[in-house]
Amino acid sequence: MTETNSQADLAILCSACFRNEGLRLDAVRLGWASDEPCPHCGATDGAKLSDERARHLAHRFFVVGSLVKTEYGGASVIQFNSRVETSLDPNPLHGDDAQLLSQTLGIGFFYHGPPIWAVGEIEPLKALEDPQTRAPIIARILAEYPRFTLSPDQTFYRLRKAAARPQDPGEYDSPPDEFCGGGRLDTPDLPILYGSADLELCIHECRVTVADELHVATLKATRPLSLLDLTALIDDGTTSFESLDMAVHLLFLAASHSYPISRDIAAAAHRAGLDGVLFPSYFSLLRTGQPFLETIYGLSTRVFAGAAEYEAVKIVENIALFDRPIADGRVAVTCINRLYLRQASYDLGFGPATY
Ligand SMILES: [Zn+2]
Repeated sequence: MTETNSQADLAILCSACFRNEGLRLDAVRLGWASDEPCPHCGATDGAKLSDERARHLAHRFFVVGSLVKTEYGGASVIQFNSRVETSLDPNPLHGDDAQLLSQTLGIGFFYHGPPIWAVGEIEPLKALEDPQTRAPIIARILAEYPRFTLSPDQTFYRLRKAAARPQDPGEYDSPPDEFCGGGRLDTPDLPILYGSADLELCIHECRVTVADELHVATLKATRPLSLLDLTALIDDGTTSFESLDMAVHLLFLAASHSYPISRDIAAAAHRAGLDGVLFPSYFSLLRTGQPFLETIYGLSTRVFAGAAEYEAVKIVENIALFDRPIADGRVAVTCINRLYLRQASYDLGFGPATY
């Protein structure tokens, strides 16, 4: 058990009350140890749950655990609140678990129709998806997103798997032409050096396994470099359905089907004379453990006052530098190390197997 009962919470349920294994394991994590018998099932060895912790458990299992990702964005299939009766059996194998939470907490589970912006119905994103209408939106991105200055005192890292000559700084430059065109921003015409100040993020981005021979270069710019900052939260004064901010946010949370769009943005930034792009990692939420597309009353938390600071903790930044910045002298390799994985740890969540 990872939490202690510091607030003299009143136990209403315990981990032994649940038959579903995922709910039981999550209840063990959220509950506290106590020798008192559970007021519901009488067990003394279950992790005890207060009203607040049982709601947290219901949210993690049924709401977060029913998140379905769409091509762009995604939403939870199941929601609950205290105003409706349960209108579904969210857990057919162990329906009495859901019923127990419903009755004990006074909540109802129901199928949720998500706001359609959350599943990618955003005007600038739809325009970006169509190559015929993409260019004006990319021109807006170049005009409306700020510039980030990568200064010579900021250290960042570049990871290599199976480097042929690991001691050679050139190994850490952008790949040779024949290997360009497979990533989020690079094309055969535009080699890119990808790096990050977050070394664990580099491990995710490089899809590292325990079998890999790894080396990491410590890098610094040799002069201030100007990057298009796509990690910024921009307020374009529109709704989420028309928001350029939301379009770009969902673009970088999307998988490889989105790469033709992000490559065109990089090419435009290159033509504009910039040194590169600062962009949110696809693995940001995995790295930070933050929720996917948080909403309040159907609105994205990105649209509220003060959102920039709140949203920034969810993002881990990647640095993409155009052409070959080590060969052309814009970036210096200050150190090279062998890197190995000592241990990997995972933070697991559970959801219903079917809805
Ligand atoms: Zn119990």
